Amino acid sequence: MNFFDEVGSFFDKAAQFTTHSSGLLATIKECDSSLLLNFPVKIGDAYELIEAYRVHHSAYKSPLKGGIRYSECVTHDEVKALAALMSYKCAIVDLPFGGAKGGIKIDPKKYTIEELERITRRYAFELIKHNYMGPTIDVPAPDYGTSSREMAWIADTYCQLNPKDSNGLGCVTGKPIAMGGIVGRTEATGRGILYAAEEVVACSADMKALGLTVGLEGKKVIVQGLGNVGSHAARFLQEAGALIVGLAEYEGAIYDSNGLDVLDVLEHRKQTGSILNFKKSKNILPSNLLLEYPCDILVPAALENQITVHNASKIMAKIIIEGANGPITPDAEKILLAKNTCILPDIYANAGGVTVSYFEWLKNRAYVDFGRVSKRLDSSNVLAMVHVIEQLTGKKVPQEHQNLLLETSEYNLVNSGLKDTMVNAYRNIRELLRQHPEMQDLRTAAFVYAINKIASQYELRGVFP
Ligand code: NAD
Repeated sequence: MNFFDEVGSFFDKAAQFTTHSSGLLATIKECDSSLLLNFPVKIGDAYELIEAYRVHHSAYKSPLKGGIRYSECVTHDEVKALAALMSYKCAIVDLPFGGAKGGIKIDPKKYTIEELERITRRYAFELIKHNYMGPTIDVPAPDYGTSSREMAWIADTYCQLNPKDSNGLGCVTGKPIAMGGIVGRTEATGRGILYAAEEVVACSADMKALGLTVGLEGKKVIVQGLGNVGSHAARFLQEAGALIVGLAEYEGAIYDSNGLDVLDVLEHRKQTGSILNFKKSKNILPSNLLLEYPCDILVPAALENQITVHNASKIMAKIIIEGANGPITPDAEKILLAKNTCILPDIYANAGGVTVSYFEWLKNRAYVDFGRVSKRLDSSNVLAMVHVIEQLTGKKVPQEHQNLLLETSEYNLVNSGLKDTMVNAYRNIRELLRQHPEMQDLRTAAFVYAINKIASQYELRGVFP
């Protein structure tokens, strides 16, 4: 089964629990359109033909939204699957976006920064030329192999070619802060994983059923992939009291049942070029064997198809939080669910990035940092309130509470909006599953939730003739 079919198989499983017509379900499931590109870029003295894609899964809301991936493994099928996941994800966290995705079939490590800039700008030019990008059309963001650096080049290309578009910077999110980016976007997906983890371990009945205690404190965690998503997720989970016992990268993995300090491991990798041979930890080769090591929570945050029928029965984690898109195949999921593994699906668990991308897009349209206009007034109102409370009670409000109340910086507003989104989305899915136990698992409930939401939009809008 290819990746898009795998997503389709999760969709079909959930569709049985809806009452929509087969035509409407087919409309939601299929991709609207694909842009298949081959363009030349001068690399050194020679021309290289670059293969790239942008897929629009569902324009039931616009703009469409989805990252751009740079990887040698990029295929049309992969980009279609990732675009579809974006539509469901945006519906689950209640964002006004349809789903899209892009990919360039290159290994970015093989190119100089100048060459990467030429490839990125040419790709952006092609998207603009074919009407596949723009603040109200389709708004890309970083994904595997890309970061704020590529988003800056894309934003600049769009703004140069569209000087009259006053919302130009909103053509892409995940930009550097100095170019209209938003504080907290880089780490947003990892932080969203923390909020998802906190929610799932807070439910005592669910934890009892898994044989786990409530709360993150002391929970043993393994994270695969120390890129944008995995490194921040690992760091935040450690800060929240979890014990990071295993970390995996493509060159190998390390395990220490006493816990690994994430920042130290990242520094070690920076210094030595490898995660291996870190202090007293055990080296594990090949890297993916780490997934089978003992832990309470496993966070696959690298790529799709990491947990398959070949290793699913050996996975010991009680909870799997999908940081990556599509890390568990449908057949592997059947094995895991039969073992009572709790799986937080990608379409919910890694939605933190697109959530904060939404805040960035709003900020670009508003031309103002969140909190800037009201910050000083909010502070004086809080201080006045504290003063009244102290006068009426004759007691002092502790300074740390006052500080918390005064913090209306963009950073705090973004994180609080992100937390609210992740908490509410989890509760919606969990409640749907509680009301319909026949759905059996969180992924099915999440898909049902998304399908119903998208379907209701189609029903309200009708079909454009
Ligand atoms: P990234 O390029 O920043 O990092 C990925 C990391 O995984 C790299 O360090 C890479 O070396 C490592 N890796 C690759 N293959 C591996 C393997 N077999 N074992 C262990 N490590 C391996 O990418 P990212 O942005 O962190 O994205 C990771 C996943 O999360 C992707 O599936 C992506 O679609 C998904 N995702 C990303 C975001 C985001 O905001 N960046 C949001 C939602 C979902």
